[in-house]
Amino acid sequence: MASPAQPISNRSLLEMDRDHLIHPVTSFRAHESRGATILQSGDGMWLTDIDGNRVLDAFAGLWCVNVGYGQESIVEAAVEQMRRLPYATGYFHFGSEPAIRLAEKLVSLTPEGLNHVFFTLGGSDAVDSAIRYITHYWNAVGQPSRKQFIALERGYHGSSTTGSGLTALANFHRNFDVPLKWQHHIPSPYGYRSDAADDAELIAQSVGHLKTKVAQLGNENVAAFFCEPIQGSGGVVVPPKGWLKAMRDCCTDLGILFVADEVITGFGRTGPLFACEAEGVSPDLMTLAKGLTAGYAPMGALMMSDKVYHGIADGASPDLAIGHGLTYSGHPVSAAIGLEVLRLYLDGGILANGQSVSAKFETGLAALSDHPLVGDTRGRGMLGAIELVADKASKARFAPELKLADRLFAAGYGNGVIFRAFADNIIGLAPALCCSDDEMEMIFARIRKTLDGLLEESDIRKAI
Ligand code: PMP
Repeated sequence: MASPAQPISNRSLLEMDRDHLIHPVTSFRAHESRGATILQSGDGMWLTDIDGNRVLDAFAGLWCVNVGYGQESIVEAAVEQMRRLPYATGYFHFGSEPAIRLAEKLVSLTPEGLNHVFFTLGGSDAVDSAIRYITHYWNAVGQPSRKQFIALERGYHGSSTTGSGLTALANFHRNFDVPLKWQHHIPSPYGYRSDAADDAELIAQSVGHLKTKVAQLGNENVAAFFCEPIQGSGGVVVPPKGWLKAMRDCCTDLGILFVADEVITGFGRTGPLFACEAEGVSPDLMTLAKGLTAGYAPMGALMMSDKVYHGIADGASPDLAIGHGLTYSGHPVSAAIGLEVLRLYLDGGILANGQSVSAKFETGLAALSDHPLVGDTRGRGMLGAIELVADKASKARFAPELKLADRLFAAGYGNGVIFRAFADNIIGLAPALCCSDDEMEMIFARIRKTLDGLLEESDIRKAI
């Protein structure tokens, strides 16, 4: 029998959190003094916290809850699977129906040639799995010198021991002794802050940077190039159309593997189901997570091409196991959830809704460019950013002492909207694809109110 509801003491929860719970990507000391905002429930686009505040989530949790909160059919799929078979290992040649069905479904939906899937628990271990399998691949096909990995500045590829070195954000490196010596970075295609005259030049610059880096390292030493089709955690850097294809083609010409990290951009976030699809790009490997289960359970996936799969398979001794595994790879409950989430995108109208409401998203972003604090707005599909500057002409950022990101986030929350506030004065937006037109208007009205409020503050006024 269920136990009677226990009264929740907010104060004791806050104290327990402060004393015991380590929060991801958070200053320990700042968290001790600020305390947690404890979320209690969610429905659709809305979150309610423990104090009863109802806020619009314009960031889909952490760019993941693409179908919105409270989707009952997902709960039912999870419960049904938990009752029938809560766990099945993939070791010892075991499998489970949902994992097999989800693998087949992903193969049918992702770009041509990605015919094999390794399931992980999220994005970081999908990236790590890519690094491990790529290393294995080059050894297996008799090119063991290929051990250097290249990624983009401002890129994010998770926070595992190796993936954090492909990530190129300062706080993921500081005091963690990464990047490792085989991890290298080339400039990001950051149009707003680049000296390129136009899109074609920006693309040519990126291709040039990759070729130069590969030449410096020696082509025969380079294993792979990793990139996000649109950089998320680096401040939603949207490269020009054609950039992804140019980078893919460059990797093909150079004979190195091309890995598309679609952890954020996958599952409709940028319009089509995958960002690679929009440019007719087939990567050698693709990492997925977030929208795969829309945050209802942890799961990621590494999609692998025939070329890499067969290279590993043929190079391995038939008697020896290929030693890469996770206890929860292909977890049946997460897989059942993934199948239902995919059904909601495709047959439940959520992908189509995202594609249609993205016009309002685009208009809302563009309309903010007249605001005195806004230097740039950019986006694709339902992924966007507003970059704030102290000076529109010089594009100067606000001084770090002003702690603009923390203030923005708090003010936004106070006005009933959640967005990402990056340290370098960028607001990141990724509303769920189920957002209505009215909710989209509310998001932008609340953001404008937040920016107007900031403009009233004397230190900000003095800084512009
Ligand atoms: N790659 C990209 C592009 C991401 O955005 C993220 C997460 N923000 C990751 C990898 C890591 O995923 P996770 O946090 O699920 O480990």
